[in-house]
Amino acid sequence: MYSKNWDLTPLYSGIDDPLVELDLKKALKLAEEFEKKYRKNLETAKMVKDGLKDLEKILTMISKVRGYAYLLFSTDTQNGNYKQLLIKSEEFSTKIYEKTAFFELKLLKMEDDKFLEFLNSEELLEYKNYLKNLWREKSHKLSEREEILIEKKDLTGVDAFERLYSEITSDFTYTFEMDGEIKKLTGSEIRGLFYHPDEKVRERATITYYKKYEEFGKILNSIYNNIIKDHAMECEIRKYSDPMEPTHIANHIEKDTIDLMVDVITNSYSLVERYYRKKAELLGKKKLKGSDLYAPMGKELENIPYEEAAKMVIDAYGIFDEEFGNLAKNFFEKKWIDAEIKKGKMGGAYCYGISPEVNPFIMTNYNSKLRDVYTLAHEIGHGIHDIMASKNSYLNFHPPLVVAETASVFGEMLLTEKLKNETKMKDVLLNILSSKIEDIIATVYRQIMYILFEYRAHKRCQEGFLSEEDMCNIWWEEMERMYGDSIEFFEVQKWNWSSIPHFFHYRFYCYAYSFGELFVISLFKKYKEEERENFIKNYKEILSSGGSKNPYQLAEIVGENLNERSFWEKGIKFIEEMIEEFERFN
Ligand SMILES: [Zn+2]
Repeated sequence: MYSKNWDLTPLYSGIDDPLVELDLKKALKLAEEFEKKYRKNLETAKMVKDGLKDLEKILTMISKVRGYAYLLFSTDTQNGNYKQLLIKSEEFSTKIYEKTAFFELKLLKMEDDKFLEFLNSEELLEYKNYLKNLWREKSHKLSEREEILIEKKDLTGVDAFERLYSEITSDFTYTFEMDGEIKKLTGSEIRGLFYHPDEKVRERATITYYKKYEEFGKILNSIYNNIIKDHAMECEIRKYSDPMEPTHIANHIEKDTIDLMVDVITNSYSLVERYYRKKAELLGKKKLKGSDLYAPMGKELENIPYEEAAKMVIDAYGIFDEEFGNLAKNFFEKKWIDAEIKKGKMGGAYCYGISPEVNPFIMTNYNSKLRDVYTLAHEIGHGIHDIMASKNSYLNFHPPLVVAETASVFGEMLLTEKLKNETKMKDVLLNILSSKIEDIIATVYRQIMYILFEYRAHKRCQEGFLSEEDMCNIWWEEMERMYGDSIEFFEVQKWNWSSIPHFFHYRFYCYAYSFGELFVISLFKKYKEEERENFIKNYKEILSSGGSKNPYQLAEIVGENLNERSFWEKGIKFIEEMIEEFERFN
């Protein structure tokens, strides 16, 4: 029997283990020494390398305590001792950051010639990607004084607007009648009803939800205008040519690549329409309403014992490759997963890759449904990625953001593959297939629709204030462009844009989701069609590269070029094949 509780003793023997305190103090002491050693002395490539190595040592040490505190806290958020340790470790992290932050700034302020010499030196080969990314940021950095000024003014400026948005929207409650009882629902509770089997409930929930945003439309629109304006000003000061440029730089991606990917995706918008038309037919409707988007289909598998879930996941990975299967098994056997639902435990799931020196841990709330098995497969994918990447040093350990979901989504595909091959029941199959397609539509297509809305809003705002009506119209047009006339939306759904926190908190973040998903689907299609052994060997190389290579270099390992249309079209083709399979249901 696999335990549903993790064993954290490989990290520390317990919360009162004296080593916890010792590591915190040691890390801070090392940071102080680091500052003394390098603040004045950073002249040669050798010194930069020594500095980066020392920095990694400090980060590895502090992240172990932080990781430990976070793991404990997330399984029991009410425990005062855990919370205390978490706060303490965060305070130490901040102190360490204050002592070490000068290092990057010093590199950024270096003469261009000198920086390029480091970038191309043999000595710093291991950190080439790290330095390259720093170089891209370099030309947009301001003087230290200006940077500090902006940061300070942001606190009461753009940061305050972002906070205000969260404060207003997280306070929303929804009055809703269920089974003859009037209830007050939270945002996540009412969104849960979008998936309700009864269409009347779905419809009422959808309308109630967006009405709230309409009610606050004037304020939310004003907040959004300010956030966009702030971004435009900052782009001007920092000499970015396009509102999306800072995001591309942060993602280690070139504009042309994203433009190409967006073009391939929007060119296949008709697949979305095709899917929803067929869904309407299977639900016995002429046309779907805006509240039918998430209507459940077929029959979801339930009451799956944890033991069986573990076996399904281990098998899914094992069928793909023996090493993957064994790595997946380790997570259960070595007690690296906390799956039990407990009072005070955080919701959701995560995989925490602490550092290359210790194994990752997974937290999840296993509730015996098929989607919980998927969550396990997803998080174990992250875990396998971390283990394979642990041959890299700390700064080269975490994969670049846009490919961070590679192993996790690939793992989900493997599980779908296994279930599709083994399931005999038609309604269960329909559920598996439609859930996967809807997942893909939400990630690949909808996120691009978000970006197109966001980009237009940013561009239009440069000409002046955008009214609520303007904003809603842009949203409506982009929505119609994607869904065609496959869905009859409710008028109030034009307020949907104001309910998406990403627009308010991170500029243009959403394309990273599409990128990651389509990247994996394209890889998966390669796996299905090409010589198996060779693919698996290359795939392992991708994962074990961690963050030492950029997304272009990772694609090259499997002989692909991210700037070739055919790579992205491979993914779209695979989605089309899934939809064709779905269309054969009756
Ligand atoms: Zn993930």
